[in-house]
Amino acid sequence: MNGPRIAVIGAGMAGLAAAITLQTAGATVTVIEKSRGLGGRVATRRVGDLAVDHGAQNIKPGESALHSLMTNQLSSKDLVQIEKPVCLWSTSAGVHAADEERNESPKYSYYNGINTIARLLAARLQELGGTVILNATVHHFATNGGTVELFDNNNVSFGEFQGVVVSAPLPQAADIVATSAPFTPEPILLLDRVRSLRQVEYRSCISIMLGYYNAPPPPDYYALLAQDRTADLQWLAFESSKGPSHCKGTHDVLIAQMGPRFSKYCYFEEDALTASRVISDIRNVVGEPFHSPDWFQVKRWKYSQPIGMVYFDDANPQGSEGLLLVCGDGLRPNAGKIHEAYLSGVEAGERGISLWL
Ligand SMILES: Cc1cc2nc3c(=O)[nH]c(=O)nc-3n(C[C@H](O)[C@H](O)[C@H](O)COP(=O)(O)OP(=O)(O)OC[C@H]3O[C@@H](n4cnc5c(N)ncnc54)[C@H](O)[C@@H]3O)c2cc1C
Repeated sequence: MNGPRIAVIGAGMAGLAAAITLQTAGATVTVIEKSRGLGGRVATRRVGDLAVDHGAQNIKPGESALHSLMTNQLSSKDLVQIEKPVCLWSTSAGVHAADEERNESPKYSYYNGINTIARLLAARLQELGGTVILNATVHHFATNGGTVELFDNNNVSFGEFQGVVVSAPLPQAADIVATSAPFTPEPILLLDRVRSLRQVEYRSCISIMLGYYNAPPPPDYYALLAQDRTADLQWLAFESSKGPSHCKGTHDVLIAQMGPRFSKYCYFEEDALTASRVISDIRNVVGEPFHSPDWFQVKRWKYSQPIGMVYFDDANPQGSEGLLLVCGDGLRPNAGKIHEAYLSGVEAGERGISLWL
């Protein structure tokens, strides 16, 4: 017998976690994702035959449920533990070791890219009977008695569901909910929820991939983190630390992530100009050999990581959840982490079980 039909908007870590939790409990889940790939901000780009992680850089699950999922329940054959440490960099002290705590807990990616975890989760969902639809954007929903109907930008229906979980970054989740308010009998309740979702802003981040066909041997650290949290160049990582699919022979890729001020002011700038600024910062940090990349690509993350958080129960007040739950990294302490997004999805899934099953 089929369980209640539930829609999950977004196939990032939170959405996939919610979907699996609900499907395992007996719901029939459809995940609707606007991108052509899985994982959301857990993103890997193919550049030639290389896998390049240009969004989230590594998974540090600590002792969370995600750790046991990755190491015991999902296939771990492709999992790679990044052994080299993250070091700090500052203008005055140069490159130096970080405190032990920073490198204490294991950090992971996958040989074929960090978004392998999303592909494994989606495969698990599909094995359980769930469905994932890619390249499909939910514009709004409308409620009709005990069901909720989802629509795309052209007002084409995705069908009727008994519940919906929205896992988009909170400003986008707020937009979907606000657009839907006129199509519900109690718009005020939804608009109250929009207010709580809008409390959380997200910073933007420009991330640049730089390829060097004849890179010098990689250093004995995996990445550098700026000690000065207001510096333009915040993070510089060597993809080769993640194994052979991330580099080929002497072809190495550096990932530079720029701080909030730089990302805000250069957000609409030409790629070449942005890259030239970043390359000059990189040269100051790791020296002349990295002054002339053979290729680069610029990725702009409008909603990179949340600034602050809203509690799950404030975004989903008991009694008013009705047909709608919201989850994602902005609903967790330590906001802006993969394992926290996953835990938020599980929390939404469990609340959904008590509401809809
Ligand atoms: C540059 C960068 C570096 C980071 N580095 C790290 C790191 O090293 N370690 C770490 O732990 N975390 C890192 N993070 C944060 C981490 O990636 C996020 O916290 C986590 O992936 C958020 O997951 P989520 O499921 O909440 O949201 P998302 O991954 O954003 O998933 C939401 C999904 O919803 C989809 N969506 C949105 N609107 C719609 C719609 N209308 N219809 C259909 N689908 C929709 C989106 O396309 C997306 O796939 C980083 C993030 C960025 C951007």
